[in-house]
Amino acid sequence: MLKLRRVRSLKGAALAACLALCFTARASTVTPPKTVSNSSILVALRDGDHAPRLAWISGSPGNAWSNVVDETLPSSVEIGGASVPITWRLKPELGSADAHHVVFVYESAEPHLRLRWEWEARAAFGPVEHRIAIENLSGQEVWLPMVDSLRLDWGVLPLAELRNFYVEKGADTPSAQGTHLETVGEGYRWTGKSSTYAHPVPGEGREIIPAEFVYRANDAQSGWYAGIEFSGRTRITLERNGSSVKSVLGLDPEPGPFRTRLAAGASFETPAVFLGAFSGGPDGAGIQLRHWVRAVLNNPLTWNDPQYPLTVNNSWGSGMGVDEALALKMIAESKELGLEMFHLDAGWFRGVGDWYPNPKKFPHGLAAIADEAHRQELRFGIWVDWTQAALDTEPGALNARDPTVRDWLVTDLAPDWKPEEFKGQTIDLGVPAAHDYAGKEVKRIVEDYHLDMLEHDGYLVAQGCIREDHPHAPPDRSTMRVTHDWGSDFVLASNSTDVSYHAVRAYYDIYAKLRREHPGLLFEICNDGGRMVDFGSAAHGDYFSITDTYDPLSNRRAFYDTSHVLPSAMLESYVEKWPAPRLENFLYILRSGMMGWMTIMMDTTAWSPEQHDAARQAFALYKRELRPLIRDARLYHVSERPDGVHWDGVEYWDPARGKGVLFAFRGSIADEAEHRFVLAGLDAGKRYRLHFEDGSAPDGEATGSELMGSGLAVHLREPLSSELVFLEDGVAKR
Ligand SMILES: [Zn+2]
Repeated sequence: MLKLRRVRSLKGAALAACLALCFTARASTVTPPKTVSNSSILVALRDGDHAPRLAWISGSPGNAWSNVVDETLPSSVEIGGASVPITWRLKPELGSADAHHVVFVYESAEPHLRLRWEWEARAAFGPVEHRIAIENLSGQEVWLPMVDSLRLDWGVLPLAELRNFYVEKGADTPSAQGTHLETVGEGYRWTGKSSTYAHPVPGEGREIIPAEFVYRANDAQSGWYAGIEFSGRTRITLERNGSSVKSVLGLDPEPGPFRTRLAAGASFETPAVFLGAFSGGPDGAGIQLRHWVRAVLNNPLTWNDPQYPLTVNNSWGSGMGVDEALALKMIAESKELGLEMFHLDAGWFRGVGDWYPNPKKFPHGLAAIADEAHRQELRFGIWVDWTQAALDTEPGALNARDPTVRDWLVTDLAPDWKPEEFKGQTIDLGVPAAHDYAGKEVKRIVEDYHLDMLEHDGYLVAQGCIREDHPHAPPDRSTMRVTHDWGSDFVLASNSTDVSYHAVRAYYDIYAKLRREHPGLLFEICNDGGRMVDFGSAAHGDYFSITDTYDPLSNRRAFYDTSHVLPSAMLESYVEKWPAPRLENFLYILRSGMMGWMTIMMDTTAWSPEQHDAARQAFALYKRELRPLIRDARLYHVSERPDGVHWDGVEYWDPARGKGVLFAFRGSIADEAEHRFVLAGLDAGKRYRLHFEDGSAPDGEATGSELMGSGLAVHLREPLSSELVFLEDGVAKR
């Protein structure tokens, strides 16, 4: 997938863009810019004496954007409580440049700091990445102010019609909107935020999966997209004033003022951002971005696993009541149903922070359960919230009253504090001793319990901490707020972003090490259902729980939103028990969770024999026909966002295999028995064979122009039912 050195030249597009831009905006500059490019984008970069500049980008013909500002490098630092102005000077001898990677280096003499300004194309297609690193060579502690990851100020025609597209996290429950398409008109102001734990507040804007797609509202729908590869507190802003469209991406400066410690010899690195060029509107950007996430950010070993995304049986349908007898019954059921992993959810442990099997529930331990799953050729994974401290005192437990552990907690707990059933108090992984403890503990859990998959949940990675002796900046106590929610204290203070910066890096480090030690081990990122869905965790985990609300509509909404920016295979739906008076309703429930990674979360022994047979067939079909498409095909959003009332659907089309499928869902309304889905991505001149899986229509044929014009009609008698329409490349049209 990753052909680093076989990059198709964008010279033609570059020349066109240069003719349009170089001789107008930069007429006085003599030296040509350095460029980084692949088949999707070319980025032109200038190394000014005191600051670099992203000069322009270009993608397909007609899609060029000129940036009118130099990079803003920090103009001062703080040493010993005093502000010290700094002057940056280009050090050409320290930089480097080739077609895929450019580094400009600047230095400040007093204090001695070195800044690397880096752009890289890691794949032959898709976006390029950018990061800034500042190294402290001064021999003394220095405090840095906010350094944004990327600041853009595009010059645009004042009358150009622009759009901004972005999606929310499905955190807890998908909101009524989820997917946003906004007009970027005069005076437009937008801020999208992301953090390690989205906390939806009714009536307020939700956290986003940190990316923006900005494009011209014309036929080509071409533009640029950008996003942040980091799980800490980040933000993206976009605003328009006349001929200026500005966007800033990076760490969230609020509540601030942000400052971060740079010890002698240490480096600070801005969260990496990606910047791409696209046409074809949001699905055009998404097809490119999702494929790039797979090729560049994801773990290649995971994609080499032909069972990825797995089919899973999860114990949370029985909640905290799970025990050995139920686990063994579920393993037998999983085998019989053709599922591939048994996932033991919360409830197996002695207590929060005390990650040892409860001997009353699991008298033979967890390894015995794992071994039985393995005997049945299933994989085995468990739920853990491994940064939580609580009150257990048994050896091995992370006890919040232990003086060492107490200093790792993000707050001082009240004397009468008690954990919830599976929630405790978060430790700050940014503390080296806490990082080392947690690294050892997850390694022990993986090895002792013979795991193939580790799920982390809850408020795992801190974003705010009251301590003054941790590596992060101390909080400003006059503006600090501590709130308590569901077992955990949350801190919002001037240092919150810096706390998250350190804690996220520690979290990444722990998982990177675990991956090296256990190749093939899978990581599920849950965090109370989709509260940490971002491109940084996509680079350190294998799949996301995308919502904590598991009915068919919530599953489809969360999938609809999230699948605009992340590979479908990574997007897990938990399928819960829901009313299914008819078999059609039962399949509707299952399929609402089968568009990406599918996890069944119900008591399958309560299914009727008819449901059992239908489920077994559905899982077999998933593995045989759907999974290859979910992994490799292009995804098109061919309906409005699901509302549960009307019809909705998604289309997969894999041009390489000449195969695809339409997932069609009929909502609750009584008088809408038919819907036409206008498909996308097909060849207008070809004929396609159509197979209606449930027999709602006889198999047939249609041309690409019909399917993409008047559309594919699906007729279903029952509300809350579904159909899978398989498409296959036929012969060329006669
Ligand atoms: Zn801390």
